[in-house]
Amino acid sequence: MTRTPADDWIDLEASFLAPYAMPSSQSRGRAHAEAPHAYRTVYQRDRERIVHCTSFRRLMGKTQVLVASINDHHRTRLTHTLEVTQIARTIARRLRLNEDLTESIALSHDLGHPPFGHAGEEALDECLREFGGFDHNLQGLRQVDEREDRYPEYPGLNLSFEVREAFVQHAKRKDHPVTLPFRDVGAPLLEAQVVDMADSLAYDVHDIDDALGIGLLQLGDLESVEMWRVAADRSRSRNPDIRGDRFRTAVLRELINWQIADLLGETERNLKRCAITQLENVRGASAPIVNFSEEVQQGKAALEAFLLARVYRHHRVLRMATKGQRFLRALFAEFVRYPELLPARHLRRWTAAPNEIRQGVASTVSAAGSGSEQIAGIVGDYLAGMTDRFAQQEYERLFQPASQ
Ligand code: MG
Repeated sequence: MTRTPADDWIDLEASFLAPYAMPSSQSRGRAHAEAPHAYRTVYQRDRERIVHCTSFRRLMGKTQVLVASINDHHRTRLTHTLEVTQIARTIARRLRLNEDLTESIALSHDLGHPPFGHAGEEALDECLREFGGFDHNLQGLRQVDEREDRYPEYPGLNLSFEVREAFVQHAKRKDHPVTLPFRDVGAPLLEAQVVDMADSLAYDVHDIDDALGIGLLQLGDLESVEMWRVAADRSRSRNPDIRGDRFRTAVLRELINWQIADLLGETERNLKRCAITQLENVRGASAPIVNFSEEVQQGKAALEAFLLARVYRHHRVLRMATKGQRFLRALFAEFVRYPELLPARHLRRWTAAPNEIRQGVASTVSAAGSGSEQIAGIVGDYLAGMTDRFAQQEYERLFQPASQ
């Protein structure tokens, strides 16, 4: 067989990757068969498909913790995703895991997230309760498998099995029918485990930064958090005169470096302890391999308890959250009641449903049934895809007399 430039990557992976990494040559491939690319591996191609898709760009207008309009430099779901990605790549490269796969999983990990952050997800979960609820991971899979519409040959992005698997591995509902093709795979790949930890590492640190940035917290408040205190002492011992914003960024940097170093150390120990010498061992492992040490896990738990009490439940954050939930609940009820109010692209999915299904809906909106379920799913997709601003504008268009 003639070699292609993409074979160089396969060779490079063979020479560089650890034996427990996922080589692109062993991918289970795509749902719709495609010819290999001339000079990109399957995971490199996935990464580019993700970056070019609509739901990726919409992450820019979606709340991480603080609503997008509050200032111009706190985290949005897009910048959170980029931070997770770069941290995950650093870890993956160091562990000699597949960096391209790690990057694709990280870039896509929040694609199914609705507007208004965790609060938005809670509201949608409640709206869709009788139809199995809402989970941003499964929604992400749906988004990349069905809702993205870019290619003439197939719906969705036709991503590789391993990137799609990561959504399911992370989902709370493992019994959902879409999880079926992934049930026999075993434990998550190390690349997916890295993203999971990088996600937690990134938000613990950047949520402190944002909370300080908009004045929900003062530096002194953090002295009650042990991990902060230790990181602050280390920063001061290096730079005794450091103050203000430079002190803040030095401590945050210290917290990131500390957690990454700890994660690398503990993961190396786990690899040895669990005798992980090849990919099959990863699939057969009964506990996470990529993990923080016990000490850092405890430190992070205390830090997260502090964030919950002082930031996520701060009245300013709660006001944004409850307002967002109100928009979503009201939009959901209105669109389910009057599907004709949906924009043509979404209404078409509804009018394409068989007549008897559609007729069942108007009289029994709240009762579970195929018609209600179908329209609830269509409205759920529409709402989950919205940015914060778009949801607010839709709310105004529907409920404010002067808006159109
Ligand atoms: Mg995330």
